[in-house]
Amino acid sequence: MPLSPAVVKELERILGPEGLVTTPEGRLVYECDMHTFYKGMPDAVALPTRTEQVQAIVVLCRRQCLPVVPRGSGTGLIGGAMAPRGGVMVSLNRMDQILEIDLANRCATVQSGLINLSLTRAVSDRGYFFAPDPSSQMVSSIGGNVSTNAGGPHCLKYGITTNHVLGLEMVTGRGELVHLGGKVMDHPGYDLTGVAVGSEGTFGLVTAITVRLLHAPEAVKTVLASFATIVEASETVSDIIAAGIVPAALEMLDAVIIRAINAGVGAGYPDSAGAVLLIELDGPRAEVEVQGERCAALCRRHRALEVRVARDEAERALLWKGRKEAAGAVGRLTSSYLLQDAVVPRSKLPQIMREMETIAARHGLLIANVFHAGDGNLHPLICYDDRQPEELARAVQANEELLHACIGLGGSVTGEHGVGVDKAKNLTLQYAEADLNFMYRLRRVFDPGGIMNPEKLLPSHPACGEGFRPSRPVLPTGSWI
Ligand SMILES: Cc1cc2nc3c(=O)[nH]c(=O)nc-3n(C[C@H](O)[C@H](O)[C@H](O)COP(=O)(O)OP(=O)(O)OC[C@H]3O[C@@H](n4cnc5c(N)ncnc54)[C@H](O)[C@@H]3O)c2cc1C
Repeated sequence: MPLSPAVVKELERILGPEGLVTTPEGRLVYECDMHTFYKGMPDAVALPTRTEQVQAIVVLCRRQCLPVVPRGSGTGLIGGAMAPRGGVMVSLNRMDQILEIDLANRCATVQSGLINLSLTRAVSDRGYFFAPDPSSQMVSSIGGNVSTNAGGPHCLKYGITTNHVLGLEMVTGRGELVHLGGKVMDHPGYDLTGVAVGSEGTFGLVTAITVRLLHAPEAVKTVLASFATIVEASETVSDIIAAGIVPAALEMLDAVIIRAINAGVGAGYPDSAGAVLLIELDGPRAEVEVQGERCAALCRRHRALEVRVARDEAERALLWKGRKEAAGAVGRLTSSYLLQDAVVPRSKLPQIMREMETIAARHGLLIANVFHAGDGNLHPLICYDDRQPEELARAVQANEELLHACIGLGGSVTGEHGVGVDKAKNLTLQYAEADLNFMYRLRRVFDPGGIMNPEKLLPSHPACGEGFRPSRPVLPTGSWI
């Protein structure tokens, strides 16, 4: 339902003429995130530059009972930053300033729309970096990373986003501005920062974030090992970790994706390999040397076809460019794909890889694999032709079977991308009714009106009827303005 002229006028007053998008062609850009399967147009897109504007928008929407959908860079893969019920999308990418770099306390405070890589670029000449590095780090926002609790290739050693967040400034669904956590390590009371990280905009809009900065390691070594089969590569992963080595990153690419990347990015991976492992070690130089030798020996024990150490920074960057642009390179293979994000215990990688081959064969589909093997975090890309509805149906079926196979092996319905609309229904596979109801009640504390990012993260209809439904407007439409 279109917004009333009075609401549009009030939004324009809050945001100024440059800060509101209402035309259909302007809003079209915001109808989906990178999971283009799910679409929903917002009635208006707000582009605030200040926290006060964000707060004023939420207060307005709460009074009008209008949905509010936060958006960072829109690179999410879960149907999170899109508006299934219309309402106001709040796009935070104009709030992209670094507010403070505090090296004495090894932290920085940034506005939520800051692009992830910009922070590392701002501190690298002083020997520091921001560790969470989703493969989208060149474009995704730190606010989006915090809201999805993003992982990334280096989270095997350094941890996921939540391990690097010290404090948050957030406008809750109540319209209150709250400050959670702060620069010091420990705070009395509940860990509300921890609760808010990963809440996918269902509690409120994160406007500023205080994050840890880490000292750059003395040495980095990137090793490429190729194998005839993905099962051999998977067994190597388990043995490296069992040997007590924690690489900074341990990434796997299968034969299908290797060839797509080589064609698209020219990364120079061995074209005839069945699987490639990218192993990155970092730390004190002497330790990195020893661990590099041990990893190479373990790869050879599993019949590696080739073990190659990047000679210099340029070769290392090229190996990573291939990995980080893998999803884009799949465009050479297929018009569309479904990207699954599930996780299995690392030791189950060989089983799930065999299971995946069976599922692909059963449905006559191509499945490309590129994933964070060190965490058991899988990203199969199920390729299909979007002009063939029957092929899409098979892809959807294969996707479901894959997810169930992961859960059957002790995994989880989502690895690192979050829940969004895509996985909300799947939470019932993992959580008991009482656990889900607890989460509904928690959500309601931050957002009693049910306006924040509706239909995301939790299934819409919990079995016990303790459903999370939008409340009536506090005032009838139009009476406030
Ligand atoms: C090529 C590619 C590679 C990727 N690799 C990884 C990876 O390695 N690891 C990983 O975890 N993810 C990965 N992703 C997924 C995605 O980049 C991450 O989920 C990222 O954290 C999303 O950030 P964003 O700024 O694009 O957020 P958006 O997509 O805009 O939003 C994501 C969710 O967070 C909410 N949100 C955004 N900003 C705020 C805010 N300020 N306050 C409250 N809620 C907010 C949105 O409503 C939405 O629910 C990848 C995506 C692509 C396209």
